[in-house]
Amino acid sequence: MFYEYDEKTNRLIIKDWGKLLIADGFDSSLFNKKHQDCPICGAVKGFRAGYIGNDSWRWVCKGCTSSKYESAYEFMCKHYGFTSATQLFKHIYQQTLSNEVAVKKALAAPKRVEENSAERIEKSLRATAFLWGKSRQVRENDPVWKYLNRRVPGLTQIPSDIHYTKAQYWETDSSDRPQHLADYDAMVLRGYSPQGQLVQMHTTYLTEDGQKAPVENVKKTRPGCGFGSYAFRIGMPRDGVLGLSEGIETALAASVLYDMTVWPCHSSSVLQNFEVPDDMKTEIRQIIIFADNDRSKIRDGVRNTGLLAANALAKRLRMQGYRVRIMMTAKVGDFNDHLNNVASVPF
Ligand SMILES: [Zn+2]
Repeated sequence: MFYEYDEKTNRLIIKDWGKLLIADGFDSSLFNKKHQDCPICGAVKGFRAGYIGNDSWRWVCKGCTSSKYESAYEFMCKHYGFTSATQLFKHIYQQTLSNEVAVKKALAAPKRVEENSAERIEKSLRATAFLWGKSRQVRENDPVWKYLNRRVPGLTQIPSDIHYTKAQYWETDSSDRPQHLADYDAMVLRGYSPQGQLVQMHTTYLTEDGQKAPVENVKKTRPGCGFGSYAFRIGMPRDGVLGLSEGIETALAASVLYDMTVWPCHSSSVLQNFEVPDDMKTEIRQIIIFADNDRSKIRDGVRNTGLLAANALAKRLRMQGYRVRIMMTAKVGDFNDHLNNVASVPF
């Protein structure tokens, strides 16, 4: 079965999201990993989805996800306009899994090779630690230094948690085999789970002179790390205040503008899942969320995905007793766009 009901935790566990989507009525040809028109925003040839290797199901869209890989969970939420896990799972219970014919069809769909997920996660964690071990701190005039100084005006010091490395660039070919295409200079950051475990690695591929590398996906995180909540920890919170954002440049821009520690959380959904680290629960008193001011196209209009995620996170953190403030730029965009606008105004 592609799903399982856990009596103990009273939770539905989706073991294969690809099959769930077929049971939900999506045509499997939509998920053949070829570029095609986006079923959500309509971006022409801007959408791609399917299993990554034997790994988890992922999708990417030039419009909906700003070319970042996201999970099936996010795909369904965006497609239906759901803003919470409760809404999505209600739909899965009441619609998807109650349609017997569709579930049978999904079960009959070709089975992919299963890899033990605990083993897979373990492998991913080892690779993350290994890659970080090869990196070094940023030096003046290296590609990361050039990239960040151009992208984030006013950044006087590159935080020591941002590293430089030489990174291999891989993509899967049309028959799903991973291909090592080239080596690039790269910026790397470590993502930590709320329990303080190193679980994720962000890589931005660069050219020698600090421009974005000419590749399909300039920014990557490791797929299938097994953790839905992590933050790229840049520095430690000061005076009990921690800032949060989606993007790395957004975090750095906010830290320049407001002189505070800001942790990027990769995407709106990972940001929405943010949890205060176990060992900082008493130290941190206030959280400031630097929300992206988005206009994501959905089926019947536009949606501010960044603000929705920030609101959901704020609500949860407030219930846990934290003071939370949401900051958003007046114009569509993020705080790095804002910083660049401010910096370009002559005094
Ligand atoms: Zn789209």
